[in-house]
Amino acid sequence: MDKIFPSYNDPLFSILIITILILIVALVSYFLGNYKEEKERESLKKFLGTISVDNSILDIDKLPFETSLISPLSMVAKSFTINGEYQKSISIYLYLINHIQPFFQKEYLLKELGETYLKAGFLKRAESIFLEILRKHPRNREVLYLLETIYERLNDYKRAKETLIPLEIMGENIKNLRVNLELSAYLKDKSISKEKRIERLIEFIKREPFLYRRIVRELFKIDINSAWNSLDMDRIDIILDILWLLPSSNLNFDIISSNEILKSIYTAKGILHIEDSLPNIGIFVIDTINSAQKGGSFNIDLNFSYSCSRCRDNFPISFDKCPRCYAVNSIILNSTITEKRAYQGYSLL
Ligand SMILES: [Zn+2]
Repeated sequence: MDKIFPSYNDPLFSILIITILILIVALVSYFLGNYKEEKERESLKKFLGTISVDNSILDIDKLPFETSLISPLSMVAKSFTINGEYQKSISIYLYLINHIQPFFQKEYLLKELGETYLKAGFLKRAESIFLEILRKHPRNREVLYLLETIYERLNDYKRAKETLIPLEIMGENIKNLRVNLELSAYLKDKSISKEKRIERLIEFIKREPFLYRRIVRELFKIDINSAWNSLDMDRIDIILDILWLLPSSNLNFDIISSNEILKSIYTAKGILHIEDSLPNIGIFVIDTINSAQKGGSFNIDLNFSYSCSRCRDNFPISFDKCPRCYAVNSIILNSTITEKRAYQGYSLL
């Protein structure tokens, strides 16, 4: 044996031992890494297996999988989601996710699957998928934002705020989201008295002007007089729909008749009689309707739609957080002149 191995005090022996140790550590790390990867893969597969989908809608499982299918099928799934055909897009995402092994290749698809569940209203499923992604990739900003939206919709404001912490650490500007959550949590708190609630909402408007539209709408629900007294005449254009669609019983004629802007709006609406002396107020649709009324045309109304300044999508109903990109403070009010219909049966309150 002495002839095969160098003696223990031989430098060659030490080098041999070190080399063997390095090899052992490398092999152990390799096998442990593979084992961990395999366990995670099994965990994800088990997790996805709990999500059922009606396969009869799209018989995609019979399609032989090829990597060249990933991109076109992802696009098809995305367009199904946009068109609201969620079951079909979920079938495709699950098919792709089940056939792709490395996490980094399917992270995007998992995110899309979670977002599809979010849009379809399956908040708990979406939450599970996003938590699964964050377990592997805790710095996934897009997923953190989506998770915040889920907790907000679930009225779990504590967890929603916790989701913002890593985003803030990563340098994201989350101030508006945090304030918006603060307001949502406040509005849901039933233990606060009506007087205290009104006082605090008026403070909110002064502190965070971007919440003006949302708070005015809330004030109209809680206390009509406080709402009328909180109106900012420089920002009437961004709440024109709220004022226009107020039920007649909620109008404060003392305030309306003492203000040229409000008088013009409710003259255009047909609540007040048109006067030749009525001035233009700088809101195009209102000035146009009043000019038409002065010319004898009274069968005119306003139609409202909404768009998002971030994703540019259009929506028929108002929102506090964009239904598509989940941005706050992004709503743009679009007013169009239309023919008056016999019955207007809705308000924004
Ligand atoms: Zn948007």
